[in-house]
Amino acid sequence: MHLSRFHRVKLSHAPTPLEPLPNLSRYLGGPNIYIKRDDCTGLATGGNKTRKLEFLIGDALSKGAAHLVTQGATQSNHVRQTAAAACRLGLKCTALLETRVPDAGPDYFANGNVLLDRLFDCNVETRPAGLDMNNELVAVGERLRQQGEVPYLIPGGGSNPIGALGYVVCAQEILMQSNDLGMRVDCVVHATGSAGTQAGLVAGLEGMNTGIPVLGIGVRAPRDKQEDNVYQLACKTWELLGIPGQLSRGAVQANCDYVGPGYGRPTDGMIEAVRMLARLEGILLDPVYSGKGMAGLIDLIRKGHYRKDENIVFVHTGGSVGLFGYRDLFGEPVAA
Ligand SMILES: *Cc1c(COP(=O)(O)O)cnc(C)c1O
Repeated sequence: MHLSRFHRVKLSHAPTPLEPLPNLSRYLGGPNIYIKRDDCTGLATGGNKTRKLEFLIGDALSKGAAHLVTQGATQSNHVRQTAAAACRLGLKCTALLETRVPDAGPDYFANGNVLLDRLFDCNVETRPAGLDMNNELVAVGERLRQQGEVPYLIPGGGSNPIGALGYVVCAQEILMQSNDLGMRVDCVVHATGSAGTQAGLVAGLEGMNTGIPVLGIGVRAPRDKQEDNVYQLACKTWELLGIPGQLSRGAVQANCDYVGPGYGRPTDGMIEAVRMLARLEGILLDPVYSGKGMAGLIDLIRKGHYRKDENIVFVHTGGSVGLFGYRDLFGEPVAA
């Protein structure tokens, strides 16, 4: 897995720390929970898209592109990190924000990631929910090309085989760090959405023959669809890496029982998980992804899914800025 064969720019502070969560582990009565701090990738409040953007923007620059074009939901962490990366590298950035949660409160449309998109001077266009957003992306790319620009299209979540390479790097870090700690990893758990994170982790951990299973906790699609998306992308990533043989379908596992009413819509389990990590460990999760991912892990632990002596690594994929788009869920005003 010779990743320096690929174009790449440095955007992150990786390797991110792999740390124990002693208070949460004790509170739940085991297993031993560790956290891979990809909320600390270092770009504009961090998150998982930074690793993907290192390879995507490396590819963009190698092709002479000067304008990044991408898309996501209103509170997209991916758009915020892309906009920040564009600033760092002197590129223009246009983002299409899909109004995927139309009935959300005013903070959702102005605060959190949206505020930061503006600060990074990103050209924001909105789209109603339900369009094929990748078609919209292609259309905007065409428009920019006609205006004489050299655009580079980044799919939603940065999830294509080039972006997924960022999570092959993360798989290598988890392996090296757990070896250094003398810690056997029994399972890696994280929130899965546009599939690039899980595809990269699975291709990396399987490709290195680690025997470490990965469980994605879904935040949007039903299980069959989520697993198919991840598997297809993981196979393409596997091919891009030039690993011999075929990736086993069984290596891709998702649990989509924690989506609740839909993408970006709160669940009681998410609110509990966000509060629990804040109050036990001083760690900020987010309402859309890592909060639901952790809610899934907590529920599986309570249902006895893991032995007490197992070591679970939760990949914190970031997103805490999104909390400010959901003030009503967490913020009680104080008296003047
Ligand atoms: C995008 C995102 C995810 C999901 O990662 P995918 O690669 O899209 O599956 C998880 N957590 C956060 C905070 C994200 O922004």
